[in-house]
Amino acid sequence: MALDALDISTIAPTEALKSEARALSERAEGLAAGDILKLAFEHFGTGLALVSSFGADSAVLLHMVSEIDKTLPVVFIDTGKLFGETLRHRDALVERLGLTNVRSVKPQPKRLEEVDPDGTLWFRNTDACCGVRKVEPLSFALSEFDAWITGRKRHQAVTRANLALFEADGEKIKVNPLAGWTSRDVEAYRLAHDLPAHPLVAEGYKSIGCMPCTDRVADGEDERAGRWRGQAKTECGIHLGLAGREANGSGI
Ligand code: SF4
Repeated sequence: MALDALDISTIAPTEALKSEARALSERAEGLAAGDILKLAFEHFGTGLALVSSFGADSAVLLHMVSEIDKTLPVVFIDTGKLFGETLRHRDALVERLGLTNVRSVKPQPKRLEEVDPDGTLWFRNTDACCGVRKVEPLSFALSEFDAWITGRKRHQAVTRANLALFEADGEKIKVNPLAGWTSRDVEAYRLAHDLPAHPLVAEGYKSIGCMPCTDRVADGEDERAGRWRGQAKTECGIHLGLAGREANGSGI
């Protein structure tokens, strides 16, 4: 299969979905993050999932969710290129928080055989690599849900400065209860609840993704400056509109 066939086409949200997201954002304005989550639980019911990278800040949102419902589906994309520290951090947090529905999703072996048989696609084409290792598996994993919770924050990068609390993206609504949080807020919450830190934070990593595409971040840089350093790429594609398998016709 040609690499360009890996492009995950985006679907523009319908006006109805955008309106639903706007209305929810208005209701959520001024609420604490935990109350925004409760609003999302009430509104979406079993159509809601949390997507977590089990990265630098993930413990906060996972803890908040565990306080509401430990059975909420938590989707974790194991790209096959993650740091071992992230996998161990995931296991420690799952045990500590008593989460009972964590779904570790991997790229489909057949697709990897087709497009990344030697595991070096990241070196030649990061968009295609993120497509097969992140976007496609997440698209499958979320196909049964109407909405998903993310840990994104406005301060993380200029590209996230206008992040809404609820946003229509593709065919789903994304919930961003920590949109207005700063790094200090996150650290204060983590300490207040005695949550474990991702071990790589102490080594200068502020945003942690796959090993080949994550670098340390210097003081004064955006938190995400170490992701795909030296490239124009700023997002892996999962926040650019999930089309789903039926729509993108990739046939996986
Ligand atoms: S972050 Fe890098 S290694 Fe991970 S899926 Fe994307 S390109 Fe591949």
